Amino acid sequence: MHNKKRLDDKDLESFPGLGPKSKLKLLQIGISRISDLILFLPSFLIDKTKMTDISNVENASKCIFIGEIIKIFKTKGFRPHLMLLVNVGDETIQIRFIHKIIMYSNLKVDMKIRFSGIIYRRRNIFEIIHPEIEIIHNNKDLEKIIPYYKTKKLLSQNKLRSFIKHAYNYISKNPNEDIFNAGILEKLNIPHYLKALKDCHFPSSQDYKKANIDFEAGRKRFVLEELLAYKLVLSQSKKAFKKNKSYKFIIEENIKQGFIKNLPFELTYSQCEAIDDIEKSFLTGRPTKRLLQGDVGSGKTVVAAIASYYAVKSNLQAVILVPTEILCDQHLKTFRKLFSSHDIKIEALKSNLKPSTKKSIIAEIQDGTINIIIATHAILQKNIIFQKLGLIIIDEQHKFGIKQRIKLIQKKTSAGNEPHQLFLSATPIPRSLSLVLYEGLDYTIIDELPKNRKTIETKLLKNSERNDLYKNINIILKNNEQVFWVCSCIDYTESLEAEYVSGVYDFLCEKFNNIRIDILHSKAGNNENTKSINNFISGKTQILVCTTMIEVGVDVSNATCIVVEDSERFGLAQLHQLRGRVGRGDKQSYCYLVYKESISETAYARIRSLESHSNGFKIAEEDLKLRGAGEYLGNRQSGYNDNLKIASPEDIIVNFDLIKNSQKEILLLDKEKKDMLIKRWRRNTQEEIQL
Ligand code: ADP
Ligand code: MG
Repeated sequence: MHNKKRLDDKDLESFPGLGPKSKLKLLQIGISRISDLILFLPSFLIDKTKMTDISNVENASKCIFIGEIIKIFKTKGFRPHLMLLVNVGDETIQIRFIHKIIMYSNLKVDMKIRFSGIIYRRRNIFEIIHPEIEIIHNNKDLEKIIPYYKTKKLLSQNKLRSFIKHAYNYISKNPNEDIFNAGILEKLNIPHYLKALKDCHFPSSQDYKKANIDFEAGRKRFVLEELLAYKLVLSQSKKAFKKNKSYKFIIEENIKQGFIKNLPFELTYSQCEAIDDIEKSFLTGRPTKRLLQGDVGSGKTVVAAIASYYAVKSNLQAVILVPTEILCDQHLKTFRKLFSSHDIKIEALKSNLKPSTKKSIIAEIQDGTINIIIATHAILQKNIIFQKLGLIIIDEQHKFGIKQRIKLIQKKTSAGNEPHQLFLSATPIPRSLSLVLYEGLDYTIIDELPKNRKTIETKLLKNSERNDLYKNINIILKNNEQVFWVCSCIDYTESLEAEYVSGVYDFLCEKFNNIRIDILHSKAGNNENTKSINNFISGKTQILVCTTMIEVGVDVSNATCIVVEDSERFGLAQLHQLRGRVGRGDKQSYCYLVYKESISETAYARIRSLESHSNGFKIAEEDLKLRGAGEYLGNRQSGYNDNLKIASPEDIIVNFDLIKNSQKEILLLDKEKKDMLIKRWRRNTQEEIQL
């Protein structure tokens, strides 16, 4: 019984026919156990019965053909390529193998083959590089429908398929009882484990449509399994985390009101609610792990400042971790201003400091002289020790990896007392998505902008139609307001045809010859950049030509215009963040998104959605519709890909109600089943406990 239970958790070590090389490759695509192999689902099914029409084929498109090999030869040179010429109807297609030539030594002239890949039109011949090839034998039918796996080109489809076949045979010979009982299967409307596996990996139907329906149902089963396992882990770790002890902050109403009264603005209702939420969790004596999400410009910094104030008033230190030095300097200024009438010592720690300054800051962190420290990742060094750390705030949370956050948390000073944690994020994601992804966190959202804001006017501009743009820039400059000018490249890049910082700088200097213009990009060095950002903040320069370095946090309220060159090259979330650099005061602001005429329709539709929506959550939803959340969120943006193997953000949104409604049943499963469910989907439970 015990043996059975752990079957799909078995390592590939003992798996027949799998050499060390293949093992390594499998590991590189995340497969180390039989269960990983079997849960490595195909991305889609290919209908191999629909041949491409060669007379109508588009350059660089996916295609599939049946043809006859008429010639096999090797190219000249040190590393020859293996070439095949294949007749397909009246055309000849050239097939090129650049490496692993030996693997194809079984191919002979006159053989009939079916092959598929991306076709390119070269001068007078069609070419496909490294296609998938099957030899057609007269006495055997070809498979009609086959799965396609994303192998990062590390393994051939056939090889992976044969491994999966082995694994499947192994598991179906020694089947475990399904983790889900009949009741759950019915409620979720999903097939039994083995059937789901079969329908995903070995489509049985000859009809493509039917095979797809079965595949989707099978895939849905595993998507739900994974998400339910994920939720289970999160809720378990949240429960365990909440059992820890933390500091009970001292929060006095009159002191708080006094601070708020002295702010240069009135807090929005949303900000007040966020503060209430945070306050409540600081008072429980249990550690807070709270995500504070709010669109760019919604005023998260002041909320963070108030949270830090509570820590200081409770005789504890607060640290604010920021992703860039620019943001570090800026927060230092903001915090010092906010606390100017208080006896609170605030310093900034970053790499770019005089050694003597750094040394004294580190000493003052340790002896408790410093109450609030604003820091870049420089704070993560081992030699930095806090006197009494009560609160960790991580700004632009998505810019940090889990490991960095853990390092900071380990700086807790009092055994038994976890510091409170507050994560700030502007990456808007739809509510249902955040409810699942961030299940382990408490969650507060600021869903309103300060009242003085005017909607930023966003305009799309063809690259060739810039006259209006320059006219408007002239007006802005005359009003003594400032402009960010963002490029996707620093230097000229031949292959890209994209505008670049130095080129745009030269051009603008000529165009607006009395205006002070500066540049900012990662190659310029810290000192240079500090100077240029300071000059821009103080208004000495009026145009800042830059890269996306300004994307996070930079707050210059006199900047009323941002121009983004080659805007189609950026992600929507990023464009929205960039746009958030303007419109931070009460003046009318503008955002110009310049695009190349050659842009595709979908790319145009994407940037169009920025023109029509100013709310980050709306844009997120729009983008989901247009191209799926994966791209919107990017890899690191949400920590998303780190945590889930197969379920996509769309899967979460589509299945949200099902997941929510079936949670009870999952919690009612016996411990053995729960453990199996978790084990199947994660090898390492330790890592993701730290969201
Ligand atoms: P983000 O949420 O993007 O971090 P910030 O905290 O940088 O936004 O705030 C953006 C700007 O709005 C800052 O200049 C800040 O001083 C200002 N601000 C914050 N809250 C308010 C408010 N309630 N009313 C007016 N301005 C505010
Ligand atoms: Mg911010």
